[in-house]
Amino acid sequence: MPPDPAGVSYAQTTPVTCPACGHRFDFAVWLIVDTAGWPDLLDRIRGGTLHDVTCPACGHALGRADAPLLLYSPSPLSGGGPGWGYPLSGGGPGWG
Ligand SMILES: [Zn+2]
Repeated sequence: MPPDPAGVSYAQTTPVTCPACGHRFDFAVWLIVDTAGWPDLLDRIRGGTLHDVTCPACGHALGRADAPLLLYSPSPLSGGGPGWGYPLSGGGPGWG
C-alpha cells in the first residue's frame, strides 16, 4: 500500500494471478480515498478506472473489482471557536 500523508485513505490489497501470463501481483482496492491527498486517484475515479484490474506484467485486463468506495473530502478547518486553539502563525514573544 502506498503511504498516505493524510492518514485517511484506505486500500485493501488483494492477491491476483493473471490468467494470461500467470503473473502474481497485489492489486490495491481502494475503499476510502482522500480526494485532497490523492488527486491522481480522483482522476481515475472520475475516469471510472480506479478498480480496473490490469496485469502489470503483460497488460491483460482482468476485469473490475467490485468494491464500495467512500470518498473523503476534508472540510476546511473552522476559524477558531471560543477557547479553541491558538493561532499557528507568527510565533509568540520569546519564541524562536
Ligand atoms: Zn499478465
